[in-house]
Amino acid sequence: MNSSYLWSIFSTFLVFLMQPGFMCLESGLTRTKNSVNVALKNTVDLGISILLFWAIGYGIAFGNSQFGIWGTNYFFFDPEGIDPHQVVFFIFQMMFCSTAATIVSGATAERMKFRGYAIITLLVSGAIYPIFCHWAWNSYSLRDSLGWLESLGFVDFAGATVVHSVGGWVSLAVISIVGARTGRFDATGTRPIYSSNLSFSILGMMLIWLGWLGFNGGSVTVLSNSVASIILNTMLAGAAGMMSAGAVGWLNYKTTKVEVLINGSLAGLVSITAVCHAVEPVLAIATGAVGGAVSLLVSYWLRRWQIDDAVDAIPVHLGGGIWGTLAVALWGDLEILDTGLNRLEQLFVQLLGVIACGLWAFGTTWILLQAIDRLMPLRVSLEDEERGLNISEHQIKNALWDMVEVMQLQATTHDLSLRVPVEPLTEIGYVADRYNRVIDSLESSTKQLQELNANLEQKVAERTAELSIAKEKAEIANQAKSSFVANMSHELRTPLNAILGFTQLMTRSKNLPPREQRHLEIVKNSGEHLLSLIDNVLDLSQIEVEKDTLRLITFDLHELLRDLQQMFSLKAEGKGILLSLEIAPATPRHIEADRDKLRQVLTNLLNNAIKFTERGMVTLRVSPLLEVPNDRNRQIELVFRVEDTGKGIAPAEMDLLFKPFTQTRAGKEAGEGSGLGLAICRKFVRLMGGELKVDSVEHKGSAFQFEVSVNLVDSDLISTVEKNLVLQPEQPKCRILAVDDNVLNRELLVKLLQQMGFQIITAHNSQDAIALWREWQPHLILMDIEIPNSNTSKAIQIIKSDSTSDTKIVALTGSIFDRDRSDILAMGCDDLVRKPFAANDLFLTMTKHLGLCYTCADKASSPVTALTQDVKAKGEDRALKRSPALNSDSFNSISQESLLELRQSIMEVNLDKIGQIIEQIAAQNHQLAQKIEQHIDNFEYEHLLNLLP
Ligand code: ADP
Repeated sequence: MNSSYLWSIFSTFLVFLMQPGFMCLESGLTRTKNSVNVALKNTVDLGISILLFWAIGYGIAFGNSQFGIWGTNYFFFDPEGIDPHQVVFFIFQMMFCSTAATIVSGATAERMKFRGYAIITLLVSGAIYPIFCHWAWNSYSLRDSLGWLESLGFVDFAGATVVHSVGGWVSLAVISIVGARTGRFDATGTRPIYSSNLSFSILGMMLIWLGWLGFNGGSVTVLSNSVASIILNTMLAGAAGMMSAGAVGWLNYKTTKVEVLINGSLAGLVSITAVCHAVEPVLAIATGAVGGAVSLLVSYWLRRWQIDDAVDAIPVHLGGGIWGTLAVALWGDLEILDTGLNRLEQLFVQLLGVIACGLWAFGTTWILLQAIDRLMPLRVSLEDEERGLNISEHQIKNALWDMVEVMQLQATTHDLSLRVPVEPLTEIGYVADRYNRVIDSLESSTKQLQELNANLEQKVAERTAELSIAKEKAEIANQAKSSFVANMSHELRTPLNAILGFTQLMTRSKNLPPREQRHLEIVKNSGEHLLSLIDNVLDLSQIEVEKDTLRLITFDLHELLRDLQQMFSLKAEGKGILLSLEIAPATPRHIEADRDKLRQVLTNLLNNAIKFTERGMVTLRVSPLLEVPNDRNRQIELVFRVEDTGKGIAPAEMDLLFKPFTQTRAGKEAGEGSGLGLAICRKFVRLMGGELKVDSVEHKGSAFQFEVSVNLVDSDLISTVEKNLVLQPEQPKCRILAVDDNVLNRELLVKLLQQMGFQIITAHNSQDAIALWREWQPHLILMDIEIPNSNTSKAIQIIKSDSTSDTKIVALTGSIFDRDRSDILAMGCDDLVRKPFAANDLFLTMTKHLGLCYTCADKASSPVTALTQDVKAKGEDRALKRSPALNSDSFNSISQESLLELRQSIMEVNLDKIGQIIEQIAAQNHQLAQKIEQHIDNFEYEHLLNLLP
């Protein structure tokens, strides 16, 4: 056993060290999720290559040469009877083969299937490497035969091309088939993929470097003096590669990149491998330095061409390998090379060797893998690549993976009760612990939030309940308010009566000094203002209470319009302006609509128009919007327009017009009105389905217009409605008891019902009513249910609770509210008629309950209509504030005495007395009494006094 033998064995050990070196280097340069896969590939390729090289690789590489292309013996290498040097050589070469194979694992890391890699290792160590090895190194086994390349003079001392370039070319072919790692390149260029453990990679590099001493030094088959200088050159080239790459890298990146230094050293080592035996130390340094720079250049090109080498194995092994092989010709000692070639010839042969290697290693791999990839894809799925090859290929889970799995589950299920497993005393364990704490606090905050939400929801529910109770209360209060307002407005009118009456009388006094006269004028104006306020408030409350309520009746529109004209003509004349009424010829005469509301709106608009016009004219125009349809009972849109040539309204004030209690400048200057009129008008018009619009030019005039749809009424129907109904002659004369505290009303009822053919007696309160009912047993009682100081409901109860009696009760009520109807019926009444009532309505209601038949009488001959119209007018005229036409002749039928008394009591504004005198007058002339009462109701004392003869 000599020293050469020992050296070869030692070198083999050193070369073996390159295996763990590559493992550390590659797994450190790749991501954690793939590191085990890379390391395992390094290990497995060692196993495969050892076995395969033993079985066939060695024989192909170093068996007796056939045509200089492959070996023909030494398969399944058997050391029996072989020179021990040969056996050590075999082992040493076995390590070289493993080195060539393992280069591929780094370059193709992080996306290649494990079994695909195993196939490549089989290819490399069973065919690609051994054949090229044969071409270049067959003589190394000290046999007589030569590979074809070496016979040409190709020199690659320790395998820059044979080992490293072969590994590099194969890597390039594999990458071109499996492609780049996902996300490595995008439109912006190369995206960084961070290494998992660079310290580990540095250790790997050091191990490889150490192994390289055996790689190059052991390639001297016989231990000689050159071994030391080979090792020295190897050291120097590695260091020079590191420095030159470091320098170029610094110029490029302005930082010391770990990968650059690692790969620079390795590239220096690869470069010197071909020529380490034939250069001086300085040239060894030059070789290594250029090699380092070349590796950076190749790395740059690869990135540019989007060839993704995970650990830069191609720049190091292929780049460095080609350069080192060419360097042999450049500055290798020709004597030592001993090929008999000059430098150029040598360069040619070296180049040929490089090209041959490329064609063989790259070409064969590429062609074979194309086919294999089709049969069995070499690349992992995208999902597996994302999960990492450690898990997808080897099911290697770690604490990190466990943690990620739980996190993933948590992300999809939103289950905050999940906790990641904590591996104590590890970095991941620390992170897991922190994560769990964050989830702890998130869970408790979420719980708090949920509780808060639940509380909030409960509070909202409680609040909603409270609000709905409050709303109910508010509605009740609103109703109560409206009823109160309605009642109070009536109550307020009585004292106002006195105020206005006395004021009017006092203003007639000639003795009052002008100052007092002015004061009285103020009191009068204020009183009138208050009166209109009360009326308007009543209207508003009525709208609120009876939303959407229209009282449609059939009436003569032309008559209504002429009434209005007549009513305002005096006022207009007083101001010296013209009041004109223009009814378009096509305007229907009889319509069905809410007459009261229509009249009130027009009254207000005309009143305003006259009020705010000093000269010129006021015009009321009425016309149908479209042509009047011929069919009966069709709807039609009527346009009402009140124009004036008055003060007009400033554009800025337009918005204020319809706001309750708001007046424009002109309104305020006028010093009258409440600012409620237009608000009410608009509500009424809307209720009737139209919209009140205004056009106005300041100082020129205004025009208020609205359209409402009304029903056209068949004129036959009109005549029926207007005809007076009377009982058929053969009908039994039913007994009717009329209960009303107002003498006029009683009288009216007596006359009316007698005309209709009833027997009637009256009572002025509920006690009398009960007495008369017991005595006379009427068929029907007409009961005013609002008699002061009289318990009418009790009376109704008594009458209705008597089972022996079948008396019907029809309530007479002044209530304007529909909702009161049910209350009245609940009291026990059979029906109700509102005051002021239409005679026919009353008649029909009575006949319905009495089961009587009726017929139509001639309208003109009957006084019934006149009477009922008077009664109706009483209600309508509250809105109109007008008096029926009276003149001095109207009083002719009244005794002088009564007239005197009336004048006296008016001057004293003694309302009781006035009431008594009106009752007296009613006995003589009922219509006159009614008209006087209406004047009194409207506080027109002065007007009355002027009329009295
Ligand atoms: P009132 O007339 O009781 O003040 P209204 O609601 O009817 O209340 O009118 C509101 C205001 O609109 C009036 O005070 C007046 O300033 C303005 N206005 C109404 N009609 C006219 C009109 N024809 N010309 C000028 N101004 C008007």
